[in-house]
Amino acid sequence: MTRKQLEEVCVIGAGQMGSGIAQVCATSGYRVKLFDVNQTQLEKAKSGIYKSCEKLVEKGKLSLESFTILKEKLCFETKISELKNADIVIEAIIEDEAKKKEIFSELNKVVKKTGIFASNTSSISIARLAEASRRPSQFIGLHFMNPVPLMRLVEVVTTLGTNAQTLEISKEFVTSLHKEITLSKNYPGFVVNRILMPMINEAFFALQDGLSSKEDIDKAMKLGTNQPMGPFELADFIGLDTCLSIMKVLYEGTSDSKYRPSLLLQEYVENGYLGRKVGRGVYSYS
Ligand code: NAD
Repeated sequence: MTRKQLEEVCVIGAGQMGSGIAQVCATSGYRVKLFDVNQTQLEKAKSGIYKSCEKLVEKGKLSLESFTILKEKLCFETKISELKNADIVIEAIIEDEAKKKEIFSELNKVVKKTGIFASNTSSISIARLAEASRRPSQFIGLHFMNPVPLMRLVEVVTTLGTNAQTLEISKEFVTSLHKEITLSKNYPGFVVNRILMPMINEAFFALQDGLSSKEDIDKAMKLGTNQPMGPFELADFIGLDTCLSIMKVLYEGTSDSKYRPSLLLQEYVENGYLGRKVGRGVYSYS
């Protein structure tokens, strides 16, 4: 298969990342099936995608023509059997290794043999997911950034098993979405989250140690290091449960104590403060 023969993209998981990936693929002209086990989530995804496109059209960042194309090209699925013709599957379900392995094992039974498998995981071993899929040579990490329609980077992660054709097609595919590529090896957190997440985790340690207030920690990092968001604002945006899962993968995957998750971050998640996803985040916890 070549990139030009790549017509159907199936995205697994209609949360914030899956919705964004589906949106960008459909506005780029691919036929897209967005799959989720939860029908309500699919309905939420549909209205979120349409709203996002309307805003982008208003701002002149998306043509009306691309929005019309999306409406024709994007459909929503709850039946996994409907994904059988996928040329590429991009998995974006929750950051849980066992759940991801389970879905890849199922997808292998359903999707045609030439289909490429990609995971949008933030940190989990691409090699272990590839093994569960039983398609190690056709497996790759495509780590999109949040929010997908606005962020320009996709971190491409290969394993020793990824074949040259899969890498080549994946790179051309990402470029066709008007995104930039960086290449990373398969290591916990890859590059972006190996550097970003310890910073966010450190902000929780600083708060836990009583160094400063939430507001001032965010303000210090925003104005002092010229980042568009402070670490707590960003953590809420990513999802505190996702941040905690990534820190656990870094800690367990490296056995290095510098990656241990802050107790405060764990406390937030245990109490259901997951950030923007549920509307209760760092600033609403006292
Ligand atoms: P999310 O919680 O918003 O969405 C997850 C979705 O997966 C939900 O809609 C849920 O219903 C669905 N789901 C769960 N199990 C499923 C299954 N077995 N089959 C189909 N759907 C299933 O999560 P998210 O923030 O979109 O993150 C998704 C993935 O993207 C994670 O691996 C995360 O680490 C990664 N990621 C997240 C960000 C971020 O900023 N949030 C950035 C880059 C990568």
